[in-house]
Amino acid sequence: MNTANDSIQVIDEDKVFNKKLSSYLSQYYAKNNGGVTSSEDGLNYHIVSVFGSQSTGKSTLLNHLFGTEFDVMNEAQRQQTTKGIWLAHADTIATTGNVNHAEGNNTGSIFVMDVEGTDGRERGEDQDFERKSALFALATSEVLLINIWEHQVGLYQGANMGLLKTVFEVNLSLFAKNKQKCLLLFVIRDHIGITPLENLSKTLMDDLKKIWSQLNKSRETENSELTDYFDLKFWALPHKLLQQDNFLRGVAELGDRFSTPQDLFLSEYHRHIPIDGWSVYAEQVWEQIELNKDLDLPTQQILVARFRCDEISANSYEIFIEKFDAVFEKDNNLELNELGNILRELRSNILKEYDSNASRYTRSVYLEKRKILSNKVDLKLREVYSSSLTKLSKSAIEKFNEEIVKNKKSKNIGNFDEVLTTSYNEALNFFLTNSKLISIIDEDLDEENFYSSTKELNQLKENLSELMKQQKVKELENMTNKIVKKFSSNFKETVVNILSNPTNDSWDQILSDFKKLSSSLLSKYKKEEDVYDFQLGFSADENKLTYDNILKKFWLKFDEIIHDYLTEDTVLNILKNKFETYFKYDENGLPKLWKTTSEIDSNFVEARSKTLDILPILSIAKLSSNVEILPDIDIAHDEEDFSSDEEEDFEASNGNNTERSSPTHKHHRFSHILSFKQQQSILQLFKKQIDLTYLDAKRSIIQSVTS
Ligand code: GDP
Ligand code: MG
Repeated sequence: MNTANDSIQVIDEDKVFNKKLSSYLSQYYAKNNGGVTSSEDGLNYHIVSVFGSQSTGKSTLLNHLFGTEFDVMNEAQRQQTTKGIWLAHADTIATTGNVNHAEGNNTGSIFVMDVEGTDGRERGEDQDFERKSALFALATSEVLLINIWEHQVGLYQGANMGLLKTVFEVNLSLFAKNKQKCLLLFVIRDHIGITPLENLSKTLMDDLKKIWSQLNKSRETENSELTDYFDLKFWALPHKLLQQDNFLRGVAELGDRFSTPQDLFLSEYHRHIPIDGWSVYAEQVWEQIELNKDLDLPTQQILVARFRCDEISANSYEIFIEKFDAVFEKDNNLELNELGNILRELRSNILKEYDSNASRYTRSVYLEKRKILSNKVDLKLREVYSSSLTKLSKSAIEKFNEEIVKNKKSKNIGNFDEVLTTSYNEALNFFLTNSKLISIIDEDLDEENFYSSTKELNQLKENLSELMKQQKVKELENMTNKIVKKFSSNFKETVVNILSNPTNDSWDQILSDFKKLSSSLLSKYKKEEDVYDFQLGFSADENKLTYDNILKKFWLKFDEIIHDYLTEDTVLNILKNKFETYFKYDENGLPKLWKTTSEIDSNFVEARSKTLDILPILSIAKLSSNVEILPDIDIAHDEEDFSSDEEEDFEASNGNNTERSSPTHKHHRFSHILSFKQQQSILQLFKKQIDLTYLDAKRSIIQSVTS
């Protein structure tokens, strides 16, 4: 058996589908369509099949009509030639020359299928294949040529009628739900010419209707007409060997009709499978037929769409990855607007690529697969987008810190809170403007998509707020330290000045100076009575807390200063100095000259008693009104190390004669400077010292008297 040169076996004698069909179709389609399979959406083609008994000249007809080279039976051997189903591209369509072929080309590529015929014997194997190939042809073809001898017309029991019954039955099961029409073109062979075609057509029509009426129909199709499913046309050809010229002329006239748009090929016959998906479709159809499954063609179309859209998507994604890697393989530092352009272009180009090939398939499938593809692409692009946003966030934080330094120096910005707010806004603006440069907006993307920067923006806001808080704490610390330092150095001087020369109202002076100093240091922040604003954007409560904290620090310093200063040594020294002054100098500060020892004695007693009056002043911070000074703010927790022994000891010495404005023990340490024991030891040392002074004085007067 010969194989035709330029045809391809779709299904072989073992009923196996040929995997090479796809490239064959693409090649010939492209040949007719300017080199591309996607031209005219890949739908500019037709499928024609031929049916009929064996050796009725089917292959001969196709070869003459469509310029194909299907095998034709050799007269000498007379055996079946066509096995399975063959397909060939119609290279040259026969013509009488009357048809304008430029127009004729509009019919697009014609692919012709030559289907193995039966020899009319009732062989089980043959019947099976006949039924299957009928199903296959009906599911795929727009036009079915049915080859029949003239002398068989009207022979209702003839072999062809069995075939037609099969075709009709199969058709009903296939297209009951969706009435996919096709054209049955009867070609009456060896037409002698005595009976006109019209009459033959009518006879055939009657037979066909009879067959149709006798079919077992389902309830669904009960009332359906033959013409609901088929358009019927008839053509007659003279005997090829006996009337060769007339035969060729008939073929050419038929060729004219195939070349004429909207004559034999009506668009309603077309299955709308783009050519690049046709072999997948055909194979699936064949698979279903082979498995004896119901052929649900819309489902098949969707399957084809899925298969092809997946293929197209995979292909597009590959192209995308190649381009993506080429751009981002090197860690090149792209400007943001340049990067934005690249991201947007990569995305839109790849979707265009997909669309141009896939949009021809079932819309829902095409869109579904497009979403999957765009998600994959977005995942990849999002890596770049998101790392750029991370970088941008870092830059925004740097910007924030820089702006603080800058704005602090600016004369237009009043306080630190404004400095922070301005810097915060500038940093956010920086992020927003720059992230816009790389944002990707496309009609298929909703607002909260892969390319939303909301997450990063919120994170940035959070980070900046945290930084603002830290900045405020730092600023507050600096401010507090400065004020407390100023207070400390000023107040120390005051305390030393007053206490080195103690009087009954020393503590009144000290307390009043403390209050003056505190309020003058905080006056800058005072808004109204008891209301302060430290200009850090604090709430009223926060300002109050800050105020209390500073005041507490003042009190602690107060406490520290008096306790540090009034040590046993210092107090002893103050007493000694005071005694010296009282004893040796008169009211005018002039040294006394003693004439008698009794003068010395009385002076000594007076000076000692005056000096000893000072000790309580230096031992306890008490106002002239006999009220102990108490911090008007709780500073207790900083004095937990103060032992209660010392306190009891103090109680013993200072007893009940002091009033206290608060019964709590917490503040005792503040006013209680020297304990009873400390006072005793000072007194002891003091007495020793003044006794020596007394003796010295006596000795000097005795010397002057005796000398
Ligand atoms: P197929 O089996 O239907 O494809 O038939 P073929 O095309 O192989 O032809 C079968 C035989 O019929 C060949 O020997 C042809 O020469 C012969 N033949 C072809 N066309 C005609 C025709 O129009 N009339 C007659 N009587 N024989 C033909
Ligand atoms: Mg043949």
